[in-house]
Formats: sequence, C-alpha cells, structure tokens
Amino acid sequence: MTVAVREAGTTVDPERVLSTFLELVRIDSPSGHEQAIAERLLTLLQTFGVDAEIDATGNVVGRRAGNGAHADAAPLLFSAHMDTVQPGTGVKPVVEDGFVRSDGSTILGADDKAGITAIVEALRTAHEQALDCVPMEIAFTVQEETGLTGAKGLDFTRIRASLGVVLDSNGPVGTIVNQAPAADKLQAVIHGRAAHAGVSPEKGVSAVQAAARAIAPMKLGRIDEETTATIGLINGGVADNIIPDRVELTGGARSRSEAKLQAQSEHMRRLLEDEAEKMGARAEVTVTRSYGAIDVPPDSPLIGMLEVALRACGLEPRLVPTGGGSDASVYNDHGIEAVNLGVGYTEMHSTTEHIAVADLARIAEVVLAVMTRRG
Ligand SMILES: [Zn+2]
Repeated sequence: MTVAVREAGTTVDPERVLSTFLELVRIDSPSGHEQAIAERLLTLLQTFGVDAEIDATGNVVGRRAGNGAHADAAPLLFSAHMDTVQPGTGVKPVVEDGFVRSDGSTILGADDKAGITAIVEALRTAHEQALDCVPMEIAFTVQEETGLTGAKGLDFTRIRASLGVVLDSNGPVGTIVNQAPAADKLQAVIHGRAAHAGVSPEKGVSAVQAAARAIAPMKLGRIDEETTATIGLINGGVADNIIPDRVELTGGARSRSEAKLQAQSEHMRRLLEDEAEKMGARAEVTVTRSYGAIDVPPDSPLIGMLEVALRACGLEPRLVPTGGGSDASVYNDHGIEAVNLGVGYTEMHSTTEHIAVADLARIAEVVLAVMTRRG
C-alpha cells in the first residue's frame, strides 16, 4: 500500500486518515440504513472527548467546548452526511497508484465518507495533541442523498453555531462553494376521463395526451447559467385499450435567482393547467420549496476564516457556485451561514468514483486548521 509521505507542517497522520476512510467505506450505509455507521461514529466521537448522541432522526450530533486560546471563539458547525447512493453495498476499496477506487461493482462512497473522515481525523488529532480548538458542533446526517432529510430533522433549537462548514463537495481541496440554488419541487396530477379506446374513444379525455401537450413546449434542462428544470417522473394509464384518466408527474426547478425560480415554476404550472384545460382535463399542480438559496458573500468572516486556514495548509482558495443542493442549503435556511468545501473526490454517484490518497489527508488537515484557527 502506497501512502503519501508526511509533509512538513502536517499534523494529521496520513496513514491513519487512509485507514479510517477505508474502514468507513466498508460499512454499508445506503440512504435510510445508516445505523451501523452512526454507531461507529458515535463511539469514535466519544473517544475524542466529544459529547455525542444519535438523535431521533438518526443523525450523529456532537458538541465540544472550545479550549485554551479559542475557548471563547464563535462556535462552528462541522457537517458531512453518512448515507451513500446505490450501488453502494459491499464496497471493496482498492488503493492503487495514489488513488482509492471501488472494485468497479459499486460506488466508492468518498461522497461523503471522505468528508466524515476529515472531521473525525481532525478531532482525533486535536484530542491527542491537546490542541486549542474553537467551540464546535458536529452533525453527521442521514438521508442527504434522498432529500436532505437528516439535516431537515436536526433539532436546530439545540445548535448554537451561526457559522457552518459542510464537507460535501466534489472539486479540488481549496474549493469553497459559497453559492447554491434554491429549489422547488413540482407535483402534478392530471385528471382526464376513462373510456374504451376502441369502442368509444370520443367519450374519453386522455390525461397522457394532456401531459404530453404540456411538456412538449415546456422549457426544461438548462434554462440559463443559474437556472435548471426537469420533469423527472411520469406515471399514468392502466391498459393499452383504455383512454388514461390519470397521470402523475414529478419534477422541479432550481435557480440561484429567486425571481427566476418563481418564474420557472410558474411557467411549468401554467402549461400543465392550461393544456389540460384545453383538452377538457384538469391539472392539480403543487409547487413546494425544497430548500432556499445559499449566497455567502466573499467578504464574509466565514470565508475569510476559511481562506486563512486553506492558505496555512499551502492551498489557494477558490470560490465557486454550484447547481445543486446539500445539507448546507438546510443550514442556511435555519440561519446558519454555511458553505460547502471541496473534498477532492470526483465522479461521485458512479462506479468510477475515486479520490487521491493525498487529498484525504489534505482535507483532514484543512479541517484541523479551521478548528484550531491556524494561520
Ligand atoms: Zn454528498
């Protein structure tokens, strides 16, 4: 096994970072089945002097008081998610040529176990070396991949931090994701009228055809550089010889501009309602807000603090926007100014997902630098 040589100024142990990561990716944790990894992480946190518990939603939540020079600093929330996408059970990590990959039959789960590893190893190092740290809260969440459910289920009345660092983005270590879109979920039911397709089609109103007429002219895909939309699921009809009286559609829109998001959701709703009505069908459309936008200004104290820590680790910070939501979106919705950091993994959600061994140590070192206010 090849392991990166310990760099000057590095305080996390790269070999131990790698072995922690390998241990965590071998624990199955598809969304909704995070109990085993949660129990392992609970034990680890408690070993490092973190006051931790598993909450009612299944998240691992921890608190650690600040100490020494940073005892009275503003508390910081560190977060990563425990669940993985499929195919994600029975992961067999392969370490080769400085990278960790799966054996090709599953995802690797660096998304987001590399993020968890970074937080765990930074806490372990701070504990063992008795380093002065800022007050911290830790959240390892469940079911991020299936709708940010774990983060939404956190008891925010118990979280003191007003600043958060989420370790859950692709992109090189040094990346700070400070802008993310708000998202609307659209659910529609089109009610037509059933009739025999051969005997009396003129008595029917096809919900499938109404859906098709609405979707065909709909602006979907990339709308502009900060707005996207999709109809992702469509379900309807009962048999090939019956005019279908019901079709269900699920989709949504995202934009970093609130005005553009509202316009896009309204465009989708209108088309469904209008085209259904033209055919004598009826569309019931519900638009709900999944999460709000993130827009942390480049000159905010949080970004300044992260830039100092990254530079102290020899990295050049890079601010980037993203087109997707994450637990950071939920934290911002609850008044916690949170950004997402690039963890170094690539091709996540695929069987070719991989991460450099050196990046595992690098991101753990960055988390340690943030916790200890290095630089
Ligand atoms: Zn993730």
